[in-house]
Amino acid sequence: MKDILLLKQGEIVLKGLNRRHFELKLIANVEKRLRPFGQFNVYAVQSTLYAEPMDDSCDMDGACEAVKTVFGVVSVSRAAACEKDKDAIFEAAKTYLGDAISRARSFKVETKRADKRFPMTSIEISQYVGGLLADAFPHVKVDVHNPELTVTVEVRDYSAYVHGAAEPGAGGLPIGVGGRAVSLLSGGIDSPVATYLAARRGLSIIPVHFFSFPYTSEQAKQKVIDLARILARYCFDMRVEVVPFTHIQEELRDKCPEELLTILMRRFMMRISEKIARANGCGALITGENLGQVASQTLEALAVTEECVGIPILRPVIALDKREIVDIARKIDTFDTSILPYEDCCTVFTPRRPKTKPRLDDILKAEAVLDIPGLVEEAYSGIERIPATILPY
Ligand code: ATP
Ligand code: MG
Repeated sequence: MKDILLLKQGEIVLKGLNRRHFELKLIANVEKRLRPFGQFNVYAVQSTLYAEPMDDSCDMDGACEAVKTVFGVVSVSRAAACEKDKDAIFEAAKTYLGDAISRARSFKVETKRADKRFPMTSIEISQYVGGLLADAFPHVKVDVHNPELTVTVEVRDYSAYVHGAAEPGAGGLPIGVGGRAVSLLSGGIDSPVATYLAARRGLSIIPVHFFSFPYTSEQAKQKVIDLARILARYCFDMRVEVVPFTHIQEELRDKCPEELLTILMRRFMMRISEKIARANGCGALITGENLGQVASQTLEALAVTEECVGIPILRPVIALDKREIVDIARKIDTFDTSILPYEDCCTVFTPRRPKTKPRLDDILKAEAVLDIPGLVEEAYSGIERIPATILPY
């Protein structure tokens, strides 16, 4: 029997005239994600995408896991395709879902009939197939109100399909439909989560990491590449822009008041990130900043940090509690890598008593002794670009 993946589209179905554009993007993303698992024919009918294996060599288990990371898909069912005939549907349900039905205490059959020319109504199909299944599995109760297993029959244009419970997909919007953004990726817990959340709204991501060798180690850099590779399961392969940040940090340490170092450093990160964004057609910066978490994340500090750039800064985790961020980090599998104990550039020159309410005047005065364009240009021209290809599951 042939099996096939049925992917339900989420919000894209609401997008009116843009719908086709969204759908084509989703199809392209699903095709791309399925490529390592064999050849699939991917197409959309109504609000469902079909990923049909073209031959027996396709890895259906791998494919089924992989499509759950494609944004824009709300649920995934692995289904058996069969002829549009009531007995063929019963046979398919019995063979394909027999184990699951046997294991369940109760079941029911639910039918969705998209093909209105099919000679039976949804209820008639459910009753017919349900009746035969009840005879075939006499120890399993039929319970139409609270079944442990729902056997779903879908009668569509070209085939009928049977499947058990649908599993949740990644939700969100297809990567790319919202444009591009630069994400400031540290090795911490917050920024990978922020990157994931922003990407989930359809943004294609360019990760940027500020690297202060030798104050921070090669391992710290590798950790960020590893995080990007984990995120690539959702975001597709990316290229991490690693910005040499040592000279800027030394200049700040030598020439500026200690209590402002963190804010001054963050302003440089913003400026350089904006330059990368503009060079790559990105419409926003993304950070893992979170209100009140540390001294540089008060309202006053955030305002001064973003004052030096003219591009929107998205902060998807701004209002989440740490616990909530950690829960997401665990779900997307970045947590264990994030907690590896390599220092970040922020921790290297941390002031003993950072200013929690910095004033713009003081900041501008402190920066007046620096060659800002020169430092930005020097860091920008030293960028190392490292491919972050998807980490196998
Ligand atoms: P995270 O857990 O993401 O490191 P954090 O709570 O430690 O965040 P900060 O260290 O103050 O907070 O950094 C705030 C944000 O600035 C980060 O979430 C990230 O977006 C960005 N950032 C900090 N350090 C770096 C770095 N070395 N390279 C790139 N971005 C950075
Ligand atoms: Mg950090």
